[in-house]
Amino acid sequence: MTAPRLDFRALQAGRGYVIFYRQCEPNHCPGCGGSAWHVGRQSAECARCGTAIPHFSPGIPIVNQEG
Ligand SMILES: [Zn+2]
Repeated sequence: MTAPRLDFRALQAGRGYVIFYRQCEPNHCPGCGGSAWHVGRQSAECARCGTAIPHFSPGIPIVNQEG
C-alpha cells in the first residue's frame, strides 16, 4: 500500500507568498529586518522579534519565486 501523492504546486497556489529560511544564505526577518535566528528542525525564529518562518524544503517545488 502506498501513500497518496500530494500535488505541492496546488497546495502552494492556495497559500500565496511564503517566506522560507534557507540555511546557506543570509536571511532577513520579514518582521524587523534582523539577521540573527534561533534555528530549529522545522522552523527558524528571529532572535529579535520572534517571527517564525519554515525551513526551505528542497522536496517542495517553489512556484513563481523569481518573477
Ligand atoms: Zn525579527
